Amino acid sequence: MTESPDFHGPHIGPHRRDAELVDWREPEPRFDRVRIRRHTCDCKARILELCTAGGVAWVRKTDRFESGSLVWESRPLKTNEAEELWRKLLDGKAR
Ligand SMILES: [Zn+2]
Repeated sequence: MTESPDFHGPHIGPHRRDAELVDWREPEPRFDRVRIRRHTCDCKARILELCTAGGVAWVRKTDRFESGSLVWESRPLKTNEAEELWRKLLDGKAR
């Protein structure tokens, strides 16, 4: 495989019937410098990003449309909790 992982990230799995609902909120500009630790594949309309800043982490969800995009964020979590949420979202155990 020669594909760069930066370009082609993982895809979000279809969510399960019992998937837990994430408390998505409108994004707040909390930090000047936000680091994107992981992101899902750019080929899909919906992109998830695992963001960190100031010792906390959260997941950002972007739905892209022709007319623009809609951004939601989970509440800030400890890094390991955010990693857990990230895995659940990719596995379809959270949505
Ligand atoms: Zn893809």
